[in-house]
Amino acid sequence: FEGGIDYASDSSSPIDDESHTGPVPVVAVVGRPNVGKSTLVNRIIGRRQAVVEDVPGVTRDRVPYDAQWTGRRFTVVDTGGWEPDAKDRAGAIAAQAEIAVQTADVVIFVVDVTVGATDVDEAAVKMLRRSHKPVILIANKADNQNLELEAVSLWSLGLGEPHPISALHGRGSGDLLDDILRALPPTPPIIEGAPRGPRRIALVGRPNVGKSSLLNRMAKEERAVVDSVAGTTVDPVDSLVEMDGEIWQLVDTAGLRKRVHQASGTEYYAALRTAGAVEAAEVAVVLLDAGDVISEQDQRVITQVIESGRALVIAFNKWDLVDEDRRFYLDKEIDRDLKRVTWAIRVNISAKTGRAVDKLAPAVRRALAGWEQRVPTGALNQWLTALTQGTPHPVRGGRAPRVLFATQAGAAPPRFVLFTTGPFDAGYLRFIERKLREEFGFEGTPIEISVKPRK
Ligand code: GDP
Ligand code: GDP
Repeated sequence: FEGGIDYASDSSSPIDDESHTGPVPVVAVVGRPNVGKSTLVNRIIGRRQAVVEDVPGVTRDRVPYDAQWTGRRFTVVDTGGWEPDAKDRAGAIAAQAEIAVQTADVVIFVVDVTVGATDVDEAAVKMLRRSHKPVILIANKADNQNLELEAVSLWSLGLGEPHPISALHGRGSGDLLDDILRALPPTPPIIEGAPRGPRRIALVGRPNVGKSSLLNRMAKEERAVVDSVAGTTVDPVDSLVEMDGEIWQLVDTAGLRKRVHQASGTEYYAALRTAGAVEAAEVAVVLLDAGDVISEQDQRVITQVIESGRALVIAFNKWDLVDEDRRFYLDKEIDRDLKRVTWAIRVNISAKTGRAVDKLAPAVRRALAGWEQRVPTGALNQWLTALTQGTPHPVRGGRAPRVLFATQAGAAPPRFVLFTTGPFDAGYLRFIERKLREEFGFEGTPIEISVKPRK
């Protein structure tokens, strides 16, 4: 048959909400030029998206497309880009295959059945086998039954059963999509409203900023939850409080409750407590004394939170002491000393009067949302391509290193991996991070960006 199947399910079909199922799996399509990779990609995505070849001047290097089949969403990466000046074609395909396999969950390896396996194909196969990624072998251009039978010769590649298809005419592609879905990693749907323990908050800050006072205020005003919450086990050193209609777990507050008096040497123990509490928490509320200058010790606490990769809320406590004069200098200190955490959510509170303490829960929620945020691979690469074409990396050693492909490798905190043609300057990475935040938010959370230059 020809064109009998609509290869992309229509937009009204139910799709798993990505925020509940984790990252979208990535399928890379690898193969020599002209074997039919982009024809196959068009077939998989149902020709619903602009074909990059139609856009003059845009390279086809590792272009990701969003695809879906029977309600499951995945990203297809077309590795069709070919370096026309590559002297060593086998080496070039190996490099392509390597980048593709590093980022993919499943690799589709396309061979032209009318040509058979070439030495270039063999070179790619070696790379693919070393990767231990699942590979689906495609015998493309099997337009008729005779060519379909030819496909058996590709068993010799050692990649298992060849799948004969005709990307151009559609023959066999429905089965192929089913096979892709079977090879994708399972993404168990997380049932909404499933019981999960309370979110864990660390209340940290140097001695005397008002941590115990804030805890007491929360316990008094927001009703401390004495009984354990059903289905959760809470460490005896933690406190459960209700804020804004939700139960929260304040980790490692035993010392705060007992109100240990500050004596010499306690700074050491305070630092240890901070480290432990931050590690045990998902989000840290760092208290600063708004009436006092932002100190080295405050900075160290903030650094600890960033390095632990936790969400961050900065609470300026003792706001009752802030007059117009202090406000003026505080704004200057914030500009100067908190420049590296402009993304942190700030609240101005008073544990003493209770001022704006009700702003804490919404701030913590926003920070946790940023911490767990994910950007789909397709959207990330489209945005990053435009950004890096508009403002390329400065030339280094006669060449400007480029981004080949990017993916969000994880969340909580968000972690990005950029596959590039060479090392990136720290300054350019800061630029990317700033733009990433402008475009996608990531409020209240540190972000990690790592670079994997192609060898
Ligand atoms: P790529 O360089 O691997 O991305 O290959 P393309 O998708 O650009 O295809 C190269 C050529 O092969 C084009 O002229 C396609 O029309 C043709 N082609 C692709 N798939 C098939 C197929 O299944 N059968 C036949 N007969 N031709 C195909
Ligand atoms: P901790 O060491 O961080 O637990 O700080 P404490 O809660 O023990 O507070 C240190 C001192 O700051 C105490 O004398 C508190 O009464 C005072 N304090 C705490 N919060 C506030 C506030 O919002 N305003 C004012 N004026 N004083 C506060």
